[in-house]
Amino acid sequence: MDFALPFSAPVSLVSSKVLGNAPLQAEAENQIDPTLDLEAEISRLKKDMNAVILAHYYQDGDIQDLADFVGDSLDLSRKAANTDADVIVFCGVKFMAETAKVLSPQKLVLLPDEKAGCSLEQSCPPADFKVFREKYPDHIAVTYINCSAEIKALSDIICTSTNAEQIIRQIPKDQPIIFAPDRHLGAYISKKTGRDMVLWQGTCVVHEQFSVKEMVKLKTIHPDAKVAAHPECPEDLLKHADHIGSTSSLLKYVTEDSAQKYIIATEPGIIHQMQKAAPHKEFIGAPGADGKCSCNTCPFMALNTMEKLYLTMKNKTPAIEVPDTLRAQALLPLDRMLKMSQNIPTSKIST
Ligand code: SF4
Repeated sequence: MDFALPFSAPVSLVSSKVLGNAPLQAEAENQIDPTLDLEAEISRLKKDMNAVILAHYYQDGDIQDLADFVGDSLDLSRKAANTDADVIVFCGVKFMAETAKVLSPQKLVLLPDEKAGCSLEQSCPPADFKVFREKYPDHIAVTYINCSAEIKALSDIICTSTNAEQIIRQIPKDQPIIFAPDRHLGAYISKKTGRDMVLWQGTCVVHEQFSVKEMVKLKTIHPDAKVAAHPECPEDLLKHADHIGSTSSLLKYVTEDSAQKYIIATEPGIIHQMQKAAPHKEFIGAPGADGKCSCNTCPFMALNTMEKLYLTMKNKTPAIEVPDTLRAQALLPLDRMLKMSQNIPTSKIST
């Protein structure tokens, strides 16, 4: 990897587009024949279109079960880059579908709900990030994949929670770094690697909700439970974790570890795969400030439903479009990420 500065200078702030029609989509969703066998229809459409369905661990269990591949952001990026399918149906949020389009521009990339955004993406507007970068001209920007294509285009290297530590460790020690947009992940990686990074102050609305006070209460009720937490959680909560890692790392941990009970501090969609992998174990969603975990369901991921998945395949919309210039700029840091994390194995959840 060549770290000679400057990296590709950020240039344009052109946006990507989702081609769709939300009001029409909502209307159509209500008009689906309730007797329709959605699973059978989705399978038929998948075959007719030569499509692959990719689903993130934070999707509902029924969507995960009919997807061709379920994984975290790194796994899904690799799948999107290497699939032979003509159509990628991305059950996740917009930045994920956009990443798939950047990596596989010749394919039709569909997203079941065009409003499926992400609070981390929203916390980092491109115009503000451009000004921020200009304040640190000698820094390179390592940016978490949970951001828009425009932010990727303004970055030097993309990372995920799976490969962030490994990527930072490959950067020469005298090279200053900006880390964006998640300040909790940035702080966690900074502590692990001993690198002093300038952090963009974004957060995830889901992981920010977990309450340390409620977590301590829950641990008192379940003293035999271990805590598995995602590094998007605030540092005071991570202090209570027995294991910290990406969604695939959490899944591996609870499967291989010897305990029988776990408190899971990330979006509860992952518990579906945990229960499948270790049905004899008990998994408890970490609580929010109100003592319950329902507020920790990602409101964006929850927008995707089986009905919308069926409709997006039937109508081939909403479809992701990324202008060529933006795509070329966003591809560079994504390619660097894929090269710098080649030795990290892909999780094996294909359904
Ligand atoms: S869980 Fe947080 S980071 Fe993930 S998509 Fe939802 S808002 Fe974004």
